[in-house]
Amino acid sequence: MKMQANPELARQVLRRAAEAKVAIAEVPRFDVDDLTHELHVHQVELEMQNEDLRATRAMAEAARDRYRDLFESAPVGYMMLRKSGRISEINQTGADLLRIAPTQATLGYFESFVALEYLFRWHRLFTKCLDSGVADQCELALVRSDGTRWHARVRCQRAPGPVDACRLVLTDITDLEEARGALQQSRDELEARVQARTAEAVALRNAADAANRAKSEFLANMSHELRTPLHAILSFAGIGAAKAAQQDSGAYSLGQYFDRIGTSGNRLLALLNDLLDMAKIESGHLQFDMAKRDVAAITSDVLVEIGVLAKARGVEVAFEATTGDPTAWCDTLRIGQVIENLLSNAVKFTPSGKRILVTLSAGDLPSDAAAAEGDTRSALRLTVSDEGVGIPEGELDAVFDKFFQSSKTRSDGGGTGLGLAISREIVWAHGGTLTATNNAAGGATFVMTLPRQPMAD
Ligand code: ADP
Repeated sequence: MKMQANPELARQVLRRAAEAKVAIAEVPRFDVDDLTHELHVHQVELEMQNEDLRATRAMAEAARDRYRDLFESAPVGYMMLRKSGRISEINQTGADLLRIAPTQATLGYFESFVALEYLFRWHRLFTKCLDSGVADQCELALVRSDGTRWHARVRCQRAPGPVDACRLVLTDITDLEEARGALQQSRDELEARVQARTAEAVALRNAADAANRAKSEFLANMSHELRTPLHAILSFAGIGAAKAAQQDSGAYSLGQYFDRIGTSGNRLLALLNDLLDMAKIESGHLQFDMAKRDVAAITSDVLVEIGVLAKARGVEVAFEATTGDPTAWCDTLRIGQVIENLLSNAVKFTPSGKRILVTLSAGDLPSDAAAAEGDTRSALRLTVSDEGVGIPEGELDAVFDKFFQSSKTRSDGGGTGLGLAISREIVWAHGGTLTATNNAAGGATFVMTLPRQPMAD
């Protein structure tokens, strides 16, 4: 039978049920007065009430056992602490975590399980929770009754009620702590390794820089040292050739020997000049005398020298200017050196009977970094287009590398593979560009673009 919430209503229901039960039992109605009947009904009523109470009690006990079981075998440890810090109640999981019997635990103080170096932290948490009533948590190292250490996250909350007490929830985070330790260790190892590698890389870079500096200085010094006696050799070869020409009359004259000395000496001088320029570029010592210069005039001067060589090889050289303003912001000597290199290459790699065309036109260059994207600045473009062997497509950029010679011309001999590398460095230092392409009809075209105005810093 279900208990009613309203006691009066419950009583009436019970009364009716008892009356019905008496009627069903066909209790004989004696000819006694109603009182006897009333007593009987009351008795049955009481028995039924008793039965009801027993059932309710059994239900309450079952619920209590269920909750007790939930409490005892919860995955975390629960305990109640008095204000003094003494454990007044603990669940089985909590007792297991501390490795003590629950009865034993209730005799002790929680702080006796806290590792010494964590006592201050524990007291701070406990006092704060007791004083403020605000729940909080911290991580502590705890020591079990058998002396082993473990790590717990401890949540502390003041328990409701008149007596000052706190509820503690203990979660075992030993695995997490160990994983953190392992992670920290591997981080430290990694850090140490990175530092060692960085130190190694820095040492290597310093050594490489020092070697590079030493090499550049050596080249600069040696080029000077070698050039001086070479000039003497060339001058005396020249004088000797002139004198021998006056005296010789044989088929293979002394003069021809002097000419060969002179030619070889000049090649050696060109090589030394390239090495000296490269050394200067690499050590940042290449100087420029910048101003607004007439590039058409510079080109014409170079063409005078190259024209002799081209004529000797049977190659025609033409020059056209399609811009009314042939000026650029540049160094006459250095830009002359670039044009000479482009032209001497063109003559070298163009067969007899073919033509080289040099043009000057207006061009543009991408603007400096500070300006808006897509902006350009006015420039002067010089192209040297030949009808020679051309450059293999995959090597159009590599020809500007130091000591590189294309697979089409490698067997030709001569040349150092430094000319274009130096030329590009010179043009870049001017804020310009130097590129190579192939002509559809054969041969190569080199394009040098130079700014007309000085670069913004
Ligand atoms: P060098 O001419 O002394 O070898 P460069 O740096 O001036 O050095 O040129 C590098 C290489 O680029 C040349 O050896 C050649 O293979 C290639 N090259 C340069 N100019 C031309 C050209 N006009 N036509 C074909 N190949 C060229």
